[in-house]
Amino acid sequence: MGLHRGPRLLDFTKTPAHLQFNKYVLTGYRPVSTAPDCLRSLFYMHNELGNIYSHGIPFLLFLVLLPYSIPWMEVDSTWICVAHYLACLCPTIGSVLYHVFMNHIGGEHVYDTLLSLDMVGVCLVNTLGALPIIFITLLCHPAVQQAAMLAYILLSAYGIYCATTAHTNFLRLRAFVWQALFRVSLFLFRVYGSGVGSPDSLRLFVIMDALAVLGGLVNVIQIPERFSPGLFDNWGNSHQIMHVMVVCSIVYLHWGTMADLAWIKTFQCPAG
Ligand SMILES: [Zn+2]
Repeated sequence: MGLHRGPRLLDFTKTPAHLQFNKYVLTGYRPVSTAPDCLRSLFYMHNELGNIYSHGIPFLLFLVLLPYSIPWMEVDSTWICVAHYLACLCPTIGSVLYHVFMNHIGGEHVYDTLLSLDMVGVCLVNTLGALPIIFITLLCHPAVQQAAMLAYILLSAYGIYCATTAHTNFLRLRAFVWQALFRVSLFLFRVYGSGVGSPDSLRLFVIMDALAVLGGLVNVIQIPERFSPGLFDNWGNSHQIMHVMVVCSIVYLHWGTMADLAWIKTFQCPAG
């Protein structure tokens, strides 16, 4: 059902053990393939096609469109713009590579490497995406601003280690908890402390984190396919729902960061 007929697809029980990670997806597995055959799978229906395009299309849109809305020349610290742009691109490109090549003939070793790449992409959006938030929140506290960014980077490195060595979706989700708690403490510092930032951005950042957490939970509990195994093999399963939520989360990160960057242009820290 595509531009060309693909190979004969496999059922869950016939696919290699390392690809049997969702027992509620019963059919549509690609056979073990060479790299060119993995790429050809972009053009026929199988159970990873939705995962590939739900991050592949947003990646291309972010790559081309985001530079037009980022105020590269209007902020003093250009690194904020670069970090933010890379943050928006990292999770989707890592994910696309993982989903396209996961059935590579190299087997479990290649699969594990690709899964780590996917996890590093998620860690990088958490890291690079949060650095502008930390920088702006602590703008009037230069002494702790740098230390907080360094602490967050170290926390992120620990998160990458946990995420790439975890063996279940629950443990992978848990690897991001410390970064999330750090961000929550920043949000609280904006509300109750002397943290600063656009009055509009905080709500956007909270929605961003809520979407990401919700997406991760849906992926862990495997809803809706758990209630009707086989019905969501190609479309509408939990992993695709998580992909859509991740993309929405990135859009909220972008809106929040753009609100902060617009606000910073006219802000002066109070004297003393
Ligand atoms: Zn994915």
